[in-house]
Amino acid sequence: MLSYQQPDASGHFGRYGGSFASETLTHALTELREAYARYQNDPEFLKEFHSELAHFVGRPSPVYHAARMSREMGGAQIFLKREDLNHTGAHKINNVIGQAMLARRMGKPRVIAETGAGQHGVATATICARYGLECVVYMGAEDVKRQSPNVYRMKLLGATVVPVESGSRTLKDALNEAMRDWVANVDDTFYIIGTVAGPHPYPMMVRDFQSVIGTECLAQMPGMLAEQRIAAEHPDAVIACVGGGSNAMGIFHPYIPHQNTRLIGVEAAGEGLDSGKHSASLQRGSAGVLHGNRTFILQDQNGQITETHSISAGLDYPGVGPEHAWLQEIGRAEYVGITDKEALDAFHYLCRTEGIIPALESSHAVAYAMQLAKTLRTDQSILVNLSGRGDKDIGTVADLSGVDFYDRPSMRGHAVKGGPAA
Ligand SMILES: *Cc1c(COP(=O)(O)O)cnc(C)c1O
Repeated sequence: MLSYQQPDASGHFGRYGGSFASETLTHALTELREAYARYQNDPEFLKEFHSELAHFVGRPSPVYHAARMSREMGGAQIFLKREDLNHTGAHKINNVIGQAMLARRMGKPRVIAETGAGQHGVATATICARYGLECVVYMGAEDVKRQSPNVYRMKLLGATVVPVESGSRTLKDALNEAMRDWVANVDDTFYIIGTVAGPHPYPMMVRDFQSVIGTECLAQMPGMLAEQRIAAEHPDAVIACVGGGSNAMGIFHPYIPHQNTRLIGVEAAGEGLDSGKHSASLQRGSAGVLHGNRTFILQDQNGQITETHSISAGLDYPGVGPEHAWLQEIGRAEYVGITDKEALDAFHYLCRTEGIIPALESSHAVAYAMQLAKTLRTDQSILVNLSGRGDKDIGTVADLSGVDFYDRPSMRGHAVKGGPAA
């Protein structure tokens, strides 16, 4: 077994990670590090965390053998870790609960977050309602327009959504605004970051909270494999999509010491890895500093962040968590790309073959699993992190398929591509 102890005391994963934040945040970050160090192994804290995961989120989430899909691919057995079945429909809630519990213990009655597609905002608003915390979510004005159902969800849950009008009016502008708020209100405010990015201790802390995913899999997989008469304890490969990288780190981390299990992160290749229209920071980016840490980012010669693209809003981010940059460098994890079209095909395929509507983000992981399965034997296995459900994406999919689902008569004769005639 590989021994793996990362990050170091200052939050470095090799030459990645660390803490690049303005001096005005030094105090807040120190306070957060101390609080996390105090509670991360505290039995009472962990007991409450796992109780919340059991009763509010619905954990453990099942591992499911996708029997029809596996048979049709004709190779490895494919298993899905069903994070889509969590309350609020994705893995994000695991991390948000951990951070909100810290906020309460630190005596911070006010929570801020930033969100792009709105998924992290909804998860944060959810837990703030549960705990009676004030919740302010920063969101680019452009995203507020594009993601109106999620904006309304956050409002229903009692959050204040602040549209950010500066810059390109998207995620990076919302991030800057959230930072500004934090600097101004450090005393009573906790900043909940939604992925394994940000300055130390966020990448480590978010990974730890999300590691419940992989820890459950370590316990669940031996039985699932035995049922398929596979004499192994661990899958041959674990696959997850990578936006910021939190669902991937969550399922990868407990498997890192088990070197016979390949860890494969799937980035959004958009219109192709060489098209310039993608979000593949690890495969097409270079080292630089973004959002308080050193990692791989998509930048031009002058260090300006470049435009990213993906069919799935949750993968559309110009950076990636620093631990992924490290895992790539030491060769413990591999990173591949799946295009918009491949992800969309996998989305439709999983709907019709397994009766599961996956998030477009997760569809990237499913698509790569389908390709890889064909190259493996039937007594080998692949575990896919199905990070979220696709209800939020049906509007996008309908648009791409030329269907207006609010206009019922027009749906007649519009069989979804690949489906039976209506
Ligand atoms: C936000 C999101 C992602 C991407 O975030 P990671 O931090 O890379 O996990 C992936 N899947 C779903 C369903 C999401 O909501």
